Parts: sequence; C-alpha cells; structure tokens
Amino acid sequence: MALAYIGLGSNLSEKVDGQIQDSRAQLNQALETLSLHPQVGVVNVSPFYQTPAIGPGNQPDYVNGAALLETELTPLALLDLLQSIENQQGRVRTIRWGARTLDLDILLFGLLVHQTERLILPHPRMHERGFVLAPLVDIAPHLCLPTGENISELLANCSMQGIVKLLG
Ligand code: ATP
Ligand code: CA
Ligand code: CA
Repeated sequence: MALAYIGLGSNLSEKVDGQIQDSRAQLNQALETLSLHPQVGVVNVSPFYQTPAIGPGNQPDYVNGAALLETELTPLALLDLLQSIENQQGRVRTIRWGARTLDLDILLFGLLVHQTERLILPHPRMHERGFVLAPLVDIAPHLCLPTGENISELLANCSMQGIVKLLG
C-alpha cells in the first residue's frame, strides 16, 4: 500500500444532467469517484483555494486543492485512473495550460523519484507553485520532497498573490 499526494484543479464548470457543476463540485466529484475505487482510499482532503490561472489568455480563476490517497495501484495505473476521471468529467485537451473542467496531477508517490515521458515524480513544477503547495501544507506541513526540501519552507518562497482560501 502506497501513500500518494495528488493536486486537484478546475477552472471551468460543466453541465451535468441539466445542472451546472461548478469548479468546487468538479473537485468533490473527482474525490468521490476516487473514494469509490476498490484500490484507492481517500485519507485526507485539503481546504480548497481560489487561485489566479497561470495559463495563456484570459482564463477564469481556478479552484485548487490537494488530497492524500492510499493505494494499491502502481504510479502509472494511478495516472491512468486520474486521466480517466478527467475525461469522464468533460476535460477537453486543447492548448497547453488551457482552461479545463478538471486537472488531477500526482504530486508525490511515496518518496519515489521517477522520470519517463508519461510520468514525472515528484511533479516537476510543484515546488514553485503556491496554488499547489498551500493546500498541501494544510494537510501535511512537515512533508518533505525526496530531495529533503520541506514543503512549508518551499511555500514561504512562493508568491501567494491572488490566492485565497475558500471557506466551507
Ligand atoms: P502541469 O504539468 O504544468 O501542471 P498540466 O497539468 O496542464 O500542466 P496536462 O496537460 O494535464 O498538464 O498533462 C500533460 C502530461 O503530463 C500528461 O499527459 C501526463 O502524462 C504528464 N505527466 C507527467 N508527470 C505527471 C504527474 N506527476 N502527474 C500528472 N501528469 C503527469
Ligand atoms: Ca497541473
Ligand atoms: Ca495535469
């Protein structure tokens, strides 16, 4: 059984059965799907944050969060599962860093260091992103990367401009 941290993000809503599924609902829906998977347990979920988009063009703000999973899946099988949930929830891949209904990234898979075309662990940009680190620090303030860097210290060096913790 491995412990994996994932990052969740959404900056588009979607119409499901005639109802608007907003970004918060997208994240909650993804967490519910994960919790129903027989080889995945959702151990902890962070508060959500409203964060400015980093992608190209004028995009809506994101809702971002992080979660701790326990899983019997391999890292690649977990990535397959995350991508299938993104697709189920209406993700359309157009331009890089374009707006999306759901983005699920593996941030850490235990202390595994892995670099292939499909999967890089730890996530290669997590250490410089306030919108990734802030929710992660909420659930794991003492967590360190395989390099030994502490995520709370990394967060202290990130810009938090425009990043707001959502209540409730
Ligand atoms: P960023 O990676 O900068 O957060 P993004 O999430 O928008 O950007 P995507 O378009 O969702 O990028 O993913 C592009 C590819 O990244 C995926 O097809 C996947 O194979 C690869 N990838 C590499 N490492 C990871 C990881 N740790 N978690 C999720 N995807 C990864
Ligand atoms: Ca991402
Ligand atoms: Ca992604």
